[in-house]
Amino acid sequence: MRICIVGAGPAGLLLAQHLMGNHNNNNNACYDVHVFDKLPNPLLTDSTDSRSYPIALQARGLNAIREVSPALTEKLVAKGQWMDTVRFDTTGKGGVQTMKRPAASLLMEQGDLKREMVQFLQEQQGQDANTKSSLELHFDCEIQSIFLHNRTLLASCSKTKEQDAFVFDHLVAADGANSILREMFAQQDSKFHFDRKRVPGGYKPLFLERQAVTTTTTPTTGDKEESKSKPKEPAVLDSAIYGWMKGTQNFLSVPLPHKDYSSGVYAFTEDPDPLADCQTPADVLEYFQDKVPSLAQFLSEQEATQLLTRPTSTMCTVRCNRLTAGDNYEAILLGDAAHTFSAALNQGCNSALQDVQVLQKCLMKHNNNWNDALAAYEQERAQDVHAAHELSDYSLPQTKLQRVEFIGRMMLRKLPGLKRVIPPLPMDLIYREDLTYSDILQKCQGWIDKVKTTKSKRAEAAAKEATSIGEDQFTENVGKTKALLLK
Ligand SMILES: Cc1cc2nc3c(=O)[nH]c(=O)nc-3n(C[C@H](O)[C@H](O)[C@H](O)COP(=O)(O)OP(=O)(O)OC[C@H]3O[C@@H](n4cnc5c(N)ncnc54)[C@H](O)[C@@H]3O)c2cc1C
Repeated sequence: MRICIVGAGPAGLLLAQHLMGNHNNNNNACYDVHVFDKLPNPLLTDSTDSRSYPIALQARGLNAIREVSPALTEKLVAKGQWMDTVRFDTTGKGGVQTMKRPAASLLMEQGDLKREMVQFLQEQQGQDANTKSSLELHFDCEIQSIFLHNRTLLASCSKTKEQDAFVFDHLVAADGANSILREMFAQQDSKFHFDRKRVPGGYKPLFLERQAVTTTTTPTTGDKEESKSKPKEPAVLDSAIYGWMKGTQNFLSVPLPHKDYSSGVYAFTEDPDPLADCQTPADVLEYFQDKVPSLAQFLSEQEATQLLTRPTSTMCTVRCNRLTAGDNYEAILLGDAAHTFSAALNQGCNSALQDVQVLQKCLMKHNNNWNDALAAYEQERAQDVHAAHELSDYSLPQTKLQRVEFIGRMMLRKLPGLKRVIPPLPMDLIYREDLTYSDILQKCQGWIDKVKTTKSKRAEAAAKEATSIGEDQFTENVGKTKALLLK
């Protein structure tokens, strides 16, 4: 059976891993697996060019990987770093608050996660004499068209410099939030719809030095009191997740093992990008020095130069009415192609991996009968995906009062005895591996409803304002037309 997977991200690669090791699961499925990605093979890219943003994997994502391959999980654990401490600087000037997350996450660069998964897949391919399945990885190969009912796709691969046609039995859309396959499903299957909205703002990867490059009197490590007593020590980023906030800008940095820099992200939540006015590296350095001096001390001139030219990525929300496409279950959507998560919850990759875990279970239960397994997958996953959307959209406070309640509840729940009395917030439960997104939604429904009401009232007010502006404009236009006619 030929399975074409479009997208060698965490979701596509984990599914390929499962299909290749499938004979271990007591059935004789024989797969011809093709994985396509428009990007080059991560194992062949120059490591100096392949810095990427850090990603936090929790038990939810790691359990999904473990179920497919315990050995791959071990490999990833060896590559990453467990962290549960977050140091937040909310002033940008060195007033650091240290917080412990409810559970440790495994942190690694997103590029390293993909690299490790590709390498493992290739190593396993050569070693397993029992497998009847075959795997072909097509990198530098962009899918441009699909014909769902003919079960065919057209790939434009740089190796052949031609468009190659591939016939498939089932197609897997794991091509991320900007999925082109999803668009084609909507064109070719009248029962499939989706909604994709751009989220205001954007982000760029940000790479800081691990030790201060400029002297400052505001070292960022340790607590405020500790910093005051040792003002001259050169500041270092130690083993913790660092966050800085300044108005609509957030900065994150994670000093990972085996890296001589600290990898992170610069994000802004409202357009336009406040950095857009900077013309030279000196402007960038001055901007950071002025706005977030405690971060600026780790910013090298070289990084300031690169920040100017590094492209800004945007984020979007994706909601699909179905998780499969085609009258006969020709295709399935996995990961970001099917649903996205707010970046603040660190769940996108975890939930993408969990999609594969659920699909794996359905395939095993239905003896690799894909039509039955995909029908079961859709039924089983739909409720959790709906809950994930609700958590993604309505977990964060929207008003000043909600912000006070949010921080208050988080802090009070840390005090002995109060955990049982104060109802949890989604952030308190999202790390719990024993709870599904539906369970978390149920336990936090009160908070979610409150945020939802605020957001929908705001949307209503904005719509009313837009209508009244429209009416005013209409009255003004009528006035202008009358005046012209009278002339
Ligand atoms: C700044 C940032 C921080 C994040 N932090 C976290 C975190 O801490 N924890 C977490 O769980 N999640 C996090 N996420 C989300 C996470 O990165 C995504 O949810 C995850 O990568 C989704 O995996 P995927 O396999 O579905 O898709 P992707 O990783 O997006 O992979 C899709 C692949 O498809 C390929 N592709 C696209 N179109 C085509 C085409 N036409 N032809 C061929 N190939 C194609 C792409 O090149 C890509 O390799 C973060 C995201 C961002 C942006």
